[in-house]
Amino acid sequence: MKGTRPGHLPEPSRQTPTGRVCAAEGCSTRLSVYNDGPYCWQHTEIAFPNYRGKHLAPGKA
Ligand SMILES: [Zn+2]
Repeated sequence: MKGTRPGHLPEPSRQTPTGRVCAAEGCSTRLSVYNDGPYCWQHTEIAFPNYRGKHLAPGKA
């Protein structure tokens, strides 16, 4: 019997088509298979300033 020795670590840069997580720092939210973006829906919303807040103003000419 031999002691446990470090080595033969699996490559961390192995991405699977499914089971991705948000690319945001500190965010480990799982991305949906329907989510094409690198971020979760929470962080993706921030990237859309146009969609911030429900301030739908009617187009008054
Ligand atoms: Zn996120």
